[in-house]
Amino acid sequence: MIPYGSHTLSEEDIDAVTEVLKHEFLTQGKQVPAFEQALCQYTGADFAVACNSGTSGLHIACLAAGVGASDVVWTVPNSFAASANCARYCGAKIDFVDIDPRTRNICTSALVDKLYLAAAENKLPKAIIVVHFAGISCDMAAISAITEPFGITLIEDAAHALGAKDALGNTVGAGKYSAMTVLSFHPVKSITSAEGGAVLTNDEELASLLKRYASHGITRETAMLGDAHAEEPWLYAQCELGFNYRLSDVHAALGRSQLKHLDGFVARRYELATIYDQALAGLPVIRPVLDPNSAWHLYVIELTAHDRKQVFNALRERGIGVNVHYIPIHLHPYYQQLGFKPGQFPNAENYYRCALTLPLFPTLSADNQMEVIKQLSEVLS
Ligand SMILES: *Cc1c(COP(=O)(O)O)cnc(C)c1O
Repeated sequence: MIPYGSHTLSEEDIDAVTEVLKHEFLTQGKQVPAFEQALCQYTGADFAVACNSGTSGLHIACLAAGVGASDVVWTVPNSFAASANCARYCGAKIDFVDIDPRTRNICTSALVDKLYLAAAENKLPKAIIVVHFAGISCDMAAISAITEPFGITLIEDAAHALGAKDALGNTVGAGKYSAMTVLSFHPVKSITSAEGGAVLTNDEELASLLKRYASHGITRETAMLGDAHAEEPWLYAQCELGFNYRLSDVHAALGRSQLKHLDGFVARRYELATIYDQALAGLPVIRPVLDPNSAWHLYVIELTAHDRKQVFNALRERGIGVNVHYIPIHLHPYYQQLGFKPGQFPNAENYYRCALTLPLFPTLSADNQMEVIKQLSEVLS
């Protein structure tokens, strides 16, 4: 089976990991700060806080934004459940803004409408989590212009988008328009640390808060401990109820080594996307916008004349590991139990009914991509 996504590991990556295993620190050593610094250098962010998954990154981002039980957080239905779950971890209510069918990202006009309604009812969200679906950046300049007057914290779920740029050429993660950007290093994403994630920010206070939330809420910084620290150097202080969401040095070494290959990975993904774009032009499918700034995490087509279930099953039988991204979050049983219903976010639901993710990853060979195209053409003919 040709999978829909896969990691790309080199000997260099493997050496970077085994090197750490021979040294003193498996965790809380030098690899994590070095990886964080490399992420800042790549994205242009001032601060990076590594953590053990993108999901824990989203959780501490919500906490750092001050999200609590009396708050509401908005995200989009067309995402992985973690984009919404993070708000629920904080006890907050979640609500969704429908997507733009063309970009499959948050619909800015739906956002404006919903914000004015919420303002009139005094139910504005504390934070909005936008998702750069498939690696195509949301229009962050427009979104921040919309949300700024309301004093809402903007968080970017950039799990798909490390290596992408927005339409204005800003690197995703630079944080020009948001408070925090969350990355994931799960194996199917742009780069991997096996499991892992990071939160990027340009705000020093948010950075130190994020750091504490990722490590039990504990600080050892003299600045926070005051004069006592000089005389009692063993002192540390737990300031918040934090978690152990730390990334280990073993994982950080892998992520750091992978980051050196990021631009090459993204370029190869774009090359493959371009080939799909040309080869599928005559088929009854909607192709994704061929955005040269995308990180090309996923290549998702929408079927316009076929039953998705039949096509999905036929391709799986033919050895093509197609997938579906995403079941709208509000339709999961957990969210329906919270009161969400089918029909509430029609764009995301219509998109989901027809969506099919084709294999796309840097080591997908030309032959295997031709096989995907051949089998898809046959199944649709
Ligand atoms: C992968 C992913 C996450 C979660 O990242 P993990 O590192 O797997 O916890 C969150 N949001 C989106 C959109 C994702 O694709």
